[in-house]
Amino acid sequence: MPAPFHVTFVHPCVGRRAGDRTYIRTWSMEPLPVATLAALLPAAVGRRFFDDRIEVIDIDAPTDLVAISVETYTARRAYQIASDYRRRGVPVVMGGFHATLRPDEVGRFADSVVVGEAEALFPQVVDDWRHGCGQRLYKAAKRPTALRVVPDRSILRGKPYLPITLVETARGCRFRCDFCAITAAFAASQIRRDPGEVVAELRRLRRPGRMVFFIDDNIVSDLDGAKALFRALAGQGIRWVGQASMTVAADDEALALMRASGCQGILIGIESLDEGQLRGMNKGFNLLNGGPLAAIRRLHQHSIRVYGTFLAGYDGDSPATIERAVAFAEEQGLFIAAFNHLTPFPGTPLYDRLERAGRLRFPAWWLDPHYRYGMVPFTPVGFSPEELEQRCIAARRRFYRWGSILSRARHRIHWRDPWMLANFLAINAMHQRDVDGRNHLPLGDAGWQGELLEVG
Ligand code: SF4
Repeated sequence: MPAPFHVTFVHPCVGRRAGDRTYIRTWSMEPLPVATLAALLPAAVGRRFFDDRIEVIDIDAPTDLVAISVETYTARRAYQIASDYRRRGVPVVMGGFHATLRPDEVGRFADSVVVGEAEALFPQVVDDWRHGCGQRLYKAAKRPTALRVVPDRSILRGKPYLPITLVETARGCRFRCDFCAITAAFAASQIRRDPGEVVAELRRLRRPGRMVFFIDDNIVSDLDGAKALFRALAGQGIRWVGQASMTVAADDEALALMRASGCQGILIGIESLDEGQLRGMNKGFNLLNGGPLAAIRRLHQHSIRVYGTFLAGYDGDSPATIERAVAFAEEQGLFIAAFNHLTPFPGTPLYDRLERAGRLRFPAWWLDPHYRYGMVPFTPVGFSPEELEQRCIAARRRFYRWGSILSRARHRIHWRDPWMLANFLAINAMHQRDVDGRNHLPLGDAGWQGELLEVG
């Protein structure tokens, strides 16, 4: 009897300093897309998974095919891993949103490239390679109409992930924010899962005391669909967090349903407190019903905590933009916040505009060996690149110093639930430790030897 066909999944890390085998171990969440791919394999196909963030890849373990999901930040490391396998004669297939946005580049380092969602294509990819006829390109004609695959989490078992249950209820987003790679990859559309199937999965996964994280890019992109989900979740006894656009705060019914469904907090892209800047980044919807301040107050009234993200570096921004964002985040008692400089992801209108204007300092920053995590890859107007980078770091230091954490802890939103207050303190302490952890991390493994191996 022939040996069974074997697929190895690899989740690449962003990068690591030479000789560092640990990266930031405490922060790793389950890579749910790997479990979704594993669910697509026929039972007769063997499987193995290496998470490059937390373990050493056994590159010599026998396998017939390697599957790597590539994001822009992990592209360089993914190509290193692919080179290691391909030098040993093992074919490599790559997908993920960077493969969708940059298929020609990814195709230089992979035997097969999957463009679009894997659900429709991955079974065919595996079947072709099993029969020795893998193709160079697999491209979905259109998006599936719904999410139907239930992830096979058994492949993640035994690895030291954060004790948070990840579930996907929808993918993509209908909005078109200027800088957003997600909406570029999914052509400003969203597909959802049947709410009954989400509830059934949550019942199977139930682990008392565990927070559920809905990894959807924007859980309220389709507000009617989101309301149907929230109604189905009500009474299930879960506590969840997720990511949502500020549009939800303009709809009182949605807020009430969200809270009743167990929502504890959401990540919201506040981005800017300047009306003109929000319109310029195609995010004028953040100004609905009174703008960010009114939105956060309404969310807090419904006991929904806010993880606010801010961006700096658009033309017209200045050091005062960042100062104002930090002061706002502190005054409003945000649960946590991110102060990031703008990063041009390939495929976005922002990237194309900066490229046309000749303002990209590192045109393919994700591949450039001189680029480091946190560096500003373009030439901003109101700052030097170094000043913009340093001001964002300083904003994080200020927001995550103990004085700020304890001052924000006094906000009444954090006193309503002792369990969430304990989470507030623990998560803020983790962020405090991480303020400098990734600054200037190389993309890819700096200790990796050799040349990236291109497909001949
Ligand atoms: S709302 Fe969020 S997910 Fe949607 S396009 Fe804007 S940044 Fe992207």
